[in-house]
Formats: sequence, structure tokens, C-alpha cells
Amino acid sequence: MAKPMLKIDDINVYYGAIHALKGISLEVDEGEIVTLIGANGAGKSTTLRTISGLLKPKTGAIEFQGQNIAGVPAHEIVKRGISQVPEGRRIFAEMTVMENLDLGAFTRKDKDGIAADLRHVFELFPRLEERRDQVAGTLSGGEQQMLAMGRALMSRPKLLLLDEPSMGLAPLLIREIFNIIVNINKSGTTVLLVEQNANMALSIASRAYVLETGRITLSGPAAELAASEEVKKAYLGG
Ligand code: ATP
Repeated sequence: MAKPMLKIDDINVYYGAIHALKGISLEVDEGEIVTLIGANGAGKSTTLRTISGLLKPKTGAIEFQGQNIAGVPAHEIVKRGISQVPEGRRIFAEMTVMENLDLGAFTRKDKDGIAADLRHVFELFPRLEERRDQVAGTLSGGEQQMLAMGRALMSRPKLLLLDEPSMGLAPLLIREIFNIIVNINKSGTTVLLVEQNANMALSIASRAYVLETGRITLSGPAAELAASEEVKKAYLGG
């Protein structure tokens, strides 16, 4: 059997005395969309921040494409092919759309590749091309989410980590963002998606994990979890 692209094995992560992740294990195969769902404070963002090198697990292993990445610095992890779109977007508000996108390619030197990826980003997000010279802080919430995703794609990630892309967006826009996530995945990028909007997340993912206070409590095919009474009651408002 092929090895998973990302394999997290029994990691424990702390913020000082707070034990945020209590033995999390999960896998993402190449080509998948996997989603991590759970209530506020369950540890979803912490899991993504640990994968992207912003936090270091105290114990446990993280392998990406067969290599250990636990404790590897964040900029090196971007180079290896993992890019994160943080919660709340965090674009550079004073800079233009174009300048934000350029920064996404900071680890790269291949001019032709960067130009091709910029075209790809503008195909995915035509609105960013229309607004390329606009100061990013004046974009709407949805446009800022698009810019944050576009910027992450400019590093040409193999694995894209998305932290609550639907946060604060109107339903129609959420649908648009999720369609774009499907398109990003179809064009060859593996996706690990953290969401509170479990309904939408389960509808596009192949597999899912449920996180509760630092532990994985359920996992399986997304369709199976969407049909489970437990998940429906706790996360799908039914
Ligand atoms: P949300 O959906 O609200 O973003 P989450 O599932 O992403 O929640 P995390 O942000 O990963 O949850 O937080 C997990 C736990 O770690 C929470 O109890 C939180 O209070 C705690 N925590 C997160 N960041 C810090 C920090 N910088 N210092 C101390 N504790 C933190």
C-alpha cells in the first residue's frame, strides 16, 4: 500500500501548562480532501499550526512524504510543500493584492513557474485579478479569504492547510469558496480543511476526523460521518 502523504502519530502539544493536543493521530493521502471538524477550542487550529511548524509537539511524530517534519522551522516546511491559510486570513492589509500574492512566492526563484501559478490563481479567483492594484485591507471579507488562499497557492503547495475558510462569510460566498476548494483539489493539491461548518466540509471531503478537547473521537469516510446520529446531533444541527 502507498504511504500517506501526511502521517501524524500520537502528538502531544502544549501551550505552557495547557495540554492542547492529547495524542492526536491522523493521515492524509495524496489527492484527498480531509476535514477536521469540532467545536470551539477542540484543538483544530493547534493541529494545523503544529503541522506547519509554528508549534512543536512535545512527543509524537509528523511525517510528510516519508520525512520527519516535527520541529522543522515553518519556512522550511513551506519549502517542502505545505502551506497554511490561517484563521482570520491575515493578509497584509497595507499592501496591494499583487504584493500579497508576490509574497506568497517568497521561497521560490523559478520566474516562469511563478508566472504560471499567478495565472492559475487568477483563473480560480477572477476577482483578485480585477482588484490586483487594490490595497488588500479594503477588500471585502470574502475577497480577503480568496487573497489568503491565492497567496498560499503561490508557494505551489502539495498540501494546503485551510483554517476555517467559511468564517464570517455569507452563505452564498461560503458555497463559492467551497467550490473553489474543490477546484484547487482537482488541479492536484491535497487539502486538509479545518471547519466549524461541518455540513459543508463533510460534503466536499473524502474522509473526516472529529476532534473533541484535544482528542480524535471519531473518524471515517465523510459520507459515513455525515450520516452518523452522533455527528448530526453534535455538529450538524440535527
Ligand atoms: P476554534 O474553532 O475556536 O478556533 P480550535 O478547535 O481551533 O477552536 P484551538 O485554537 O486549537 O481550538 O485551541 C485549542 C485549545 O488550546 C483551547 O483550549 C485554547 O484555549 C488553547 N490555546 C490556543 N492557543 C493558545 C495560546 N496561544 N495559549 C494558550 N492556550 C491556547
